[in-house]
Amino acid sequence: MPELPEVETCRRSLSRWTAGRRVVSVDLLDPRSVRQGRSDRPTAGHPEGKAALQAVVLAAAPGDIERHGKRLLWHFGARALLLHLGMTGRWSRAAPAYAKVRLRLDDGEALVFADPRLLGGIVPTEVESGRILLRQGLGPDALDAPLPALMGRRPIKVALMDQTVVAGLGNLHAAEALWRAGIDPRVPAGDVIGERHTALQKAVRDQLEGTLTMLSKDEEIEYVEDAGADNPFPLYQRAGSPCPRCGAAIAKLTQAGRSTWWCPGCQR
Ligand SMILES: [Zn+2]
Repeated sequence: MPELPEVETCRRSLSRWTAGRRVVSVDLLDPRSVRQGRSDRPTAGHPEGKAALQAVVLAAAPGDIERHGKRLLWHFGARALLLHLGMTGRWSRAAPAYAKVRLRLDDGEALVFADPRLLGGIVPTEVESGRILLRQGLGPDALDAPLPALMGRRPIKVALMDQTVVAGLGNLHAAEALWRAGIDPRVPAGDVIGERHTALQKAVRDQLEGTLTMLSKDEEIEYVEDAGADNPFPLYQRAGSPCPRCGAAIAKLTQAGRSTWWCPGCQR
């Protein structure tokens, strides 16, 4: 599932692929992927999706792409597309299965948005209102802003995954960051203060930047859930294997319905 590093990599790829180019045509292969507002419901398709998409991407050259958490805002002059990848969305230059939208460029290349589960989408909008949608309901960005104070008795892992608290972390990177910081994922969020909070902020940053560096080596993004994809992470799906730091067996527990891998030996 895409988290901040995958979305940031998508941002950089789209910028690189469209530098100096124009979009010359649009193929809307599945109208459900273009939405009138931010929504993860496939039924919320825009009734005039193709026209709305064309009105943005044909009107001006592709420009800056802003990111906040897992959302992107792609400027085309004063207009923009809000992009979100949901659970399975990705932009690519290949011709993937489940292609939903194709933007053809003036160099003959095409950018394709594919999304098997249709939880992601594209919202045609304007830069000004798009900037509101980009941040609506989200906490500070996990990569670009300081980690906010964490509060309450719920487990720290659950708090880190709450997008209204901090935007961009999901299941995998929240768990790996807690391991880096040596913090037990069950500790109440409000207890992570002082030096532990500082350590966690550094761990989150290192986790995201480390993953970005790793992803930058490939032309097309692979998600770790993809069949045959590498799993470069020390904990993810490694229950029973030795912790690379202390050698204790990695354990797995369920928190808020999601699997958490952690090390009982060195996460306190
Ligand atoms: Zn350990």
